Order: sequence, then structure tokens, then C-alpha cells
Amino acid sequence: MDHFALNNGELFAENVPLADIAREVGTPVYVYSRATLSRHARVFREALSALPSVHIAFAVKSNPNLAVLRLLASEGYGADVVSEGEMNRALAAGIPAADVVFSGVGKTRRELTAAVKAGIGQFNLESEEEGVELAAIAAELGLVASCALRVNPDVDARTHAKISTGKAENKFGVSYDRAAGIYARLSALPGLDMRGLAVHIGSQISDLEPSRQAFLKMGALMEEIRAGGLKVTHMDLGGGLGVPYKAGDALPTPEDYGAVVASVARDWGVTLMFEPGRVITGNSGVLVTEVVRVKQGTANPFVVVDAAMNDLARPAMYDAWHDFLAVKPNGRTFTANIVGPICESSDTFAMGREIDEVAAGDLAVFRTAGAYGATMANTYNSRALVPEVMVDGDKWAVVAERIEPATILAAETVPDWLK
Ligand SMILES: *Cc1c(COP(=O)(O)O)cnc(C)c1O
Repeated sequence: MDHFALNNGELFAENVPLADIAREVGTPVYVYSRATLSRHARVFREALSALPSVHIAFAVKSNPNLAVLRLLASEGYGADVVSEGEMNRALAAGIPAADVVFSGVGKTRRELTAAVKAGIGQFNLESEEEGVELAAIAAELGLVASCALRVNPDVDARTHAKISTGKAENKFGVSYDRAAGIYARLSALPGLDMRGLAVHIGSQISDLEPSRQAFLKMGALMEEIRAGGLKVTHMDLGGGLGVPYKAGDALPTPEDYGAVVASVARDWGVTLMFEPGRVITGNSGVLVTEVVRVKQGTANPFVVVDAAMNDLARPAMYDAWHDFLAVKPNGRTFTANIVGPICESSDTFAMGREIDEVAAGDLAVFRTAGAYGATMANTYNSRALVPEVMVDGDKWAVVAERIEPATILAAETVPDWLK
């Protein structure tokens, strides 16, 4: 459920007409609904309420906007970060360092040092080598880093290949068979407090059976490690729950997910940790765009919009579907291709799709753009970096300004020897 709906024939975000925002801020622009974000945060937490001890760390990479992080902090969420930049955003948003999990396969020495000094709550180690390096850094600083070992359970999440992370050939975590041995060796190092295991098999998960298989394997590994006399007090089950991108798509709900987790992990005697991203932010945002013109095509007309793959990369990267709706639908539909202005054929949002009939100058939205939308935006073709707005009831605010091409140009220089 979200708070983007037609009201008197016109699309609103909560109580604000999207056309008002477009007029004042320009297009393209991302618009987030505070009510939807809060609702998703609460629904996800509620779905885990049968579990004794839960820590939820929002996956910052899905939407790192400071206002979004601030809102989730106020909902009691921690943060799952994958770079020093994301860590600093989480801290700037007021998320306590102890509630931050640092994930990622390539944490640098500089990042590890900064995170140890900041008192980050948990490092999800992706290799034995990383653990050895972190132990040395922490010991030298006279500090102790709390860690979980990320394990690659070798299960197929049955999602898009580019967002599948739990198969043996993926780069993430340590192999299941070697995990207990690595855990024992890292547990012996000064500077580390090995406290648990972590798993994350992929994103946009639409079938919970692979997750259940992965959780079962993690439970068995936990028992094996405990049988060896070591402690396991935290189990991080990752994120990945999918969201419906197409009206009518049936996906597992947070309740379904919570039930699967409870059926496997209720009696583990640990703090269960979660790293949801998309399920919190996905349906909380839309990308508002203006139709530049409608161009005649061979089979279907091309609706050329002023948003492009640099603003919303998912269709170009993952062949992703985003529903497209007119802000003021005229009641008619037509079959069209939706494309952006960038000089690449991959800058295509839809081909041969039945959509609201639109004409030059009309406003429209791509729905379910709150996750992996603005965060992946870039300035390809010397376009502006897309702005972001948050709506709360009747009020709204720009929460990330448009960065104009001139600002980026000003950061470039021609060396003397070319002048
Ligand atoms: C990307 C990622 C997440 C979040 O994934 P979603 O599909 O957005 O829920 C969680 N944990 C890790 C380690 C990730 O890489």
C-alpha cells in the first residue's frame, strides 16, 4: 500500500498534487511519501514481532537520502552500510554507531579504520583476509570490533542474475564448508569479537523457499560452531524481500517472510538481524517526468520523456518494469514505447506497452522508484543530477537539490599544458 493516488482526476502524493511539485522544482524529480515510508517500516517490524530479539538495519544503498535515513532513524531503524560515505550518512542522520552494520566485499583499510574509530556496531566480514586485517587495525587502536562472518550458502535466490548474491560463484561471503574453520580462527584473534553469522542471498526475492533453505543452513552452521565451544549471539539474515513493480503482481508479504523466519529461527537464542532495503523504500517513491514529445514510430509511437537511464537505471540495468501513469489521465490508453533522451538504445523504459494516453507537455510518473532510483543516478550525457522531494501530509520539501551540469563543469579544469 502507498500514498500515491488519484484525487479528482489528478495524481497526488499524500495531500499534495504532483503537478505542484513539478511546477516548482521542475522535472525529472523523485517524490517520496513520508507516510508510506513510515508505514512500510512499521509493517516490516510488526511482521517480526513473534521473534524474541530483533535488530533492523535499513540497507542504506537502496535510498541513502538524509531525510529518508532520518525518518527511519525515528522509527528505530539502524543502518546497513557498504562504504564510508554511507556510514557517514547514517551517522549524520542520527543513527547510533552501535546500530550500524558495515557490509561489503571490498572495505578498504581506510574504511575499516574509520568504522572502528566510529564504534560501528557490527562488521559483516566477507573473508578471512578481511578479518585478519580488521583484527590488526582494531588491536593497534586498542579497540575491539564486533563481527559476524558472512557465509555464502550456495542457494539460488531465483532472482535476476545481477542481484543474486548467494550462489557459490558469487563474490560474496566465505564458502559454507570453510565457514566454521574461519570463524574459529578469527575468534582467536585479539581485536575481534566474533559474535555471529550473516547471510544475504539476493534482492527482489519473490519466492521464499530459497531464503528458507539458506536460513536452515545457517542454523546448522550456528549449531556446529557452538558445538565447537564458540559463542554465536547474533544472526544476520540480510534483506532482499521483493516488492510488486507491476500492478497486480503477487509477492510474498512481510508477514509471509516473518512467518518463514519464525518457523526456522525462533528458538535460535540469538538477536536476529535484518537488512531490508527495497521493501521499505521501493513503493515509497515515484519519479515524476514530463513528456517532451510523442514521436511517430514504426509499430508504436515513442513517448520521449525528460527522465532517462541516468535518473532511473533499473530498466537499462536489469530490464526492470516500472508502471507508468499519467498525472492527469484523460481516460484513454494507447500502446507505445517509453524512452528517455539519452543517446543509447538501452535508454528505454518500456516497449509496446499499453499506457495512459499522453502528449507533449503532460506529466507522468514511474512508480515504485523509491529504491535503487535516485541512489543510482548519475550525470551521463551532461544531464543534471536528479532532485528529490519528500511529502508529509500537506507539506513537502526538497530533500536533495538538483545538481546542475554547470556545477559539475566548474569542478573540471584544463591543465596548463593544454591551454
Ligand atoms: C543490497 C543488500 C541488502 C538490501 O537488499 P534489498 O533487496 O534492498 O532488501 C541487504 N544486505 C546486503 C548485504 C546487501 O548487499
